[in-house]
Amino acid sequence: MKCPYCGCQKFYVKDTDDEYETYGFDCESGQACFDPDIDDSVIPELCDDSHIYCEKCAWNGKYDEIKT
Ligand SMILES: [Zn+2]
Repeated sequence: MKCPYCGCQKFYVKDTDDEYETYGFDCESGQACFDPDIDDSVIPELCDDSHIYCEKCAWNGKYDEIKT
């Protein structure tokens, strides 16, 4: 799982209620691992159609798109 554009394995999602709030995760282990400093109770659920953003470049798209 990596960015289709730059190959980066770090991404983030935006809070559905507050677009300035973001939650980072990395996919180095083959599955999404959210940053350890994010409280479990606020971690958003990742679905295939969750909109995610690459941390390194301007790519963004559906979570499903980085799975292949
Ligand atoms: Zn990228």
